[in-house]
Amino acid sequence: MDKPNNLLETALAHARRLSGVHLYAGKLQAPLSGKTFPVASPATRQQIGTAADGDAQDVAAAVGAAAGAQADWAAMSPRARGKILQKAAAQLTQHTEEIATLLALETGKAIRTESRVEANVLADCFEFYGGLGSELKGETIPFAPNMLVFTQREPIGVVAAILPWNAPLMLMAFKIAPALVAGNTVVVKSAEEAPLSTLFVVDLLNRSLPPGVVNILSGFGPSCGGPLVADRRVGKVTFTGSVDTGKIIAHAAADRLIPTTLELGGKSPMIVMDDADLDRTVAGAVAGMRFTRQGQSCTAASRMLVHRSVREEFVARMADKVNAMRMGDPLDEATDIGTIISTGQFDRVHSYLELGKRIPHVETLQLSKMPEAPELKDGLFVQPTVFVGVSNEDRLAREEIFGPVTCVIPFDDYEQAIAMANDSDYGLAATIWTRNLQRALDATQRLQAGFVQVNQNIVAQPGLSYGGIKQSGLGKEASMEAMLDHFTQKKTILISRD
Ligand code: ADP
Repeated sequence: MDKPNNLLETALAHARRLSGVHLYAGKLQAPLSGKTFPVASPATRQQIGTAADGDAQDVAAAVGAAAGAQADWAAMSPRARGKILQKAAAQLTQHTEEIATLLALETGKAIRTESRVEANVLADCFEFYGGLGSELKGETIPFAPNMLVFTQREPIGVVAAILPWNAPLMLMAFKIAPALVAGNTVVVKSAEEAPLSTLFVVDLLNRSLPPGVVNILSGFGPSCGGPLVADRRVGKVTFTGSVDTGKIIAHAAADRLIPTTLELGGKSPMIVMDDADLDRTVAGAVAGMRFTRQGQSCTAASRMLVHRSVREEFVARMADKVNAMRMGDPLDEATDIGTIISTGQFDRVHSYLELGKRIPHVETLQLSKMPEAPELKDGLFVQPTVFVGVSNEDRLAREEIFGPVTCVIPFDDYEQAIAMANDSDYGLAATIWTRNLQRALDATQRLQAGFVQVNQNIVAQPGLSYGGIKQSGLGKEASMEAMLDHFTQKKTILISRD
């Protein structure tokens, strides 16, 4: 392990300091029930701390703090709020290494390829939204000569942000930074698998933000997330997670007639045409499949539709590239690929591996090598797996696996590829690799997904609207429009001049 020991010690000290507490009203707060649950590293399986097991009483207290702080926060000028967010971004930047180390510890995401990258996107997102305070504009409407008619954007009030574990910091930033700059206050519910790094970040944010403006609870879905969505003082829910939980939340929000933003699953197609630049395509496929994150990404290129004439070469080159990647200690700078998040997820991924191996027409390639270090022997590592020759009808191609498992599905012509790409319940992201400009443009118009790329496979970034269609969810994140459309409500004001 070449991670400086003092950084690891510091991250562990933060884990201890933040163990067993929520943060609301500007303070670390013990759960009112006194209950906690353990937090362990998925790489070593050693416990690094505990998390507060929040319930309805904690929710009531945290929402109370957020509701109490909201009027004063909303009364500030938007640019003043933005400046506070930018100050917070500077704080986060100063602590990037500690944040990244704690994230790698609790999620198993490799420090160099994933955790540090995510900690940087987190700070960048606060900086981005901090600059958008002046964009909270309305319109004037030339409705009648004797009237002055205009609209204004107002904050919704208290926003509940329910987080997943796969990119908890980035997705938290996508939710809370726009909500805050628009004048809302927020109660975050962290994922049970990743409570400490998000709590650390909210602790840092509270050094710049007034008490009660951003609050965080940890706990389980039904017992902590459930009461949060149901609290009558919450005016909006923004959620990232599974389709099934998204639907439960949408139902609960419908009962209260409050808006939701739902970022759900994906089974993203990546089309490789016979004229693609294979060097770039293979690099893009490896990045797009997020093998470095053990494939735990909603946009993972988990359906690779490859023209039959290049399939063999594409698969061979991708296998070489992944074989050269190193699985190992998430805290080691030399590691490319860390672990799966939890035993539940580990078992789920294995059930799909077993399923794939049983399909007669499918060839299984298991790549890279399991780590050999004795301290990692129980770690939740899964070898990157490519199933070759999958049919778009197979369960492997239809269900989100959320692991380092991709399917290579052959096709013979472009129309067939587009039809298969769109034949999915999901519609989050899609990619096409081709040198034919006309075809590339045609594909961008026809692929049914919220985020479509040609000859590249980058991840979501502040400034680009991100969000799916079909079962992949409702609404957009990460952009200015996301702030305006999802974290404000419009009022129309009519003033008589007579
Ligand atoms: P996963 O199955 O990968 O754990 P989920 O979609 O169940 O993903 O979880 C995403 C987030 O939603 C987590 O923070 C979880 O605690 C929360 N959650 C789960 N069930 C509910 C629920 N019934 N109400 C509110 N939040 C929930």
